[in-house]
Amino acid sequence: MAIHEECGVFGMIGEVNPTIARDVYYGLYALQHRGQESCGIVINDDGIFASHKDTGLVGEVFSERELSDLPAGGMAIGHVRYATTGGNTRNNIQPMIVSHQKGNLCLAHNGNLTNSLYLRDKLELSGAIFHSTSDTEVISYVITRERLKTASIEQAVLNAIRYFEGAFSLVMMSSTKLIAVRDPKGFRPLCYGKRNDGSYVIASESCALNAVGASFVRDLEPGEMLVFSGENIECGPVSYREYCGGKKSPCIFEYIYFARPDSMIDGISVHETRVRAGRILAREHPVCADVVVGVPDSGLDAAIGFSVESGIPYEIGLVKNKYVGRSFIFPTKGQRTDTVRIKLSPVKSVLNNKRVVLIDDSIVRGTTSKRIISILREAGAKEIHLRISSPPFKHPCFYGVDVDSEDNLIANHHSPEDIARLIGADSIGFLPMDSLGEMSGCELYCSACFDGKYPTGIPDDTRKDRFEKKLSEV
Ligand code: SF4
Repeated sequence: MAIHEECGVFGMIGEVNPTIARDVYYGLYALQHRGQESCGIVINDDGIFASHKDTGLVGEVFSERELSDLPAGGMAIGHVRYATTGGNTRNNIQPMIVSHQKGNLCLAHNGNLTNSLYLRDKLELSGAIFHSTSDTEVISYVITRERLKTASIEQAVLNAIRYFEGAFSLVMMSSTKLIAVRDPKGFRPLCYGKRNDGSYVIASESCALNAVGASFVRDLEPGEMLVFSGENIECGPVSYREYCGGKKSPCIFEYIYFARPDSMIDGISVHETRVRAGRILAREHPVCADVVVGVPDSGLDAAIGFSVESGIPYEIGLVKNKYVGRSFIFPTKGQRTDTVRIKLSPVKSVLNNKRVVLIDDSIVRGTTSKRIISILREAGAKEIHLRISSPPFKHPCFYGVDVDSEDNLIANHHSPEDIARLIGADSIGFLPMDSLGEMSGCELYCSACFDGKYPTGIPDDTRKDRFEKKLSEV
């Protein structure tokens, strides 16, 4: 897969906790799949923000020493990031801290604003100076400007939201409050939970609540803002719903690929949706075969579903080397080493002389699928029937996911039959577009990378007209 989620966010609030840095660290570890390029933790130590952030995986950025150096605190925010918007410069590492006349604001963001360049232009014309290239700084700037005009941070955030278009799941921290916001369309997930010690936890995915011993309370509704006050945490959060009730469009690809299978998003199990995708594939693209094999990791659940529906036995036919991470020294251009072969190894006893149904979550360029198929052939597979648990990937994402350019998406230029031929499969079958609802159990969702129907429209210059009125007030 050449598709990357951009970020994961995490926040905690409760009584002063001497191990709060470790708790956030465990939460970020559980969200590592959402971003592997940089990460950071900011602790609110009685109104003073202490932070550590750097490029690298959570386990690389935080050693025992960094965690011990961070203070105790009653509130903290963490972030993992995969850089697309703004690139991977140090200034873009989150959480971001902004100081203003009324105090400090710390902010972590998952998603992409689709009007960020336009907002930035407008704000620069009115004298704003930006220190990074990320849309998160644009968000923090607009909130800070509103804060100077309003009596409370929550009112400032509510005022600021009306300027933002696109995807934003935010966790923010002032000196006394922890605030979580999910954009009105609910592109990216965001949920909260509670621990037995009375502290509250906010996270991109419920798997991070489990990691710190918090029980899931609920997902934030699209458009909802939750405010937790450090001064009366026992009262729980206050919910602001001014932006709720519009047409929502949560990202369907969270269920297909991004989220961890042990997470629940909007009340729906990610694992179950993937199993259902496999069952649908077996019904829609049946085939006579001896064994079903999933491409680890995100093809495994759908492979189980295909096996259950078709009655063809499920087997582990590919083993993933879990230790090929950032620190792995990848071959140089001139070397003829095959990185797919280093990451995935075939189980010959499962594959030899077998007709194989191979399940993967998506095809982007087709190069990885081609390599996997040749590895299976070398291991003795007699036939390989590729089944993909998503529709053909044809369009870019503007909502916080790094997708290859349209020109490089194989499904953009080739029919399924052509793709099968190009990658060396005996047959291929994609999840039908009209089964995404059955797969996910969602009535409304974003599927723009498959059908090109962008819930906010394509962000281009025509958008300027739409925002002109609102931005005259910025
Ligand atoms: Fe998700 Fe695709 Fe929509 Fe992006 S375009 S939010 S990846 S469904």
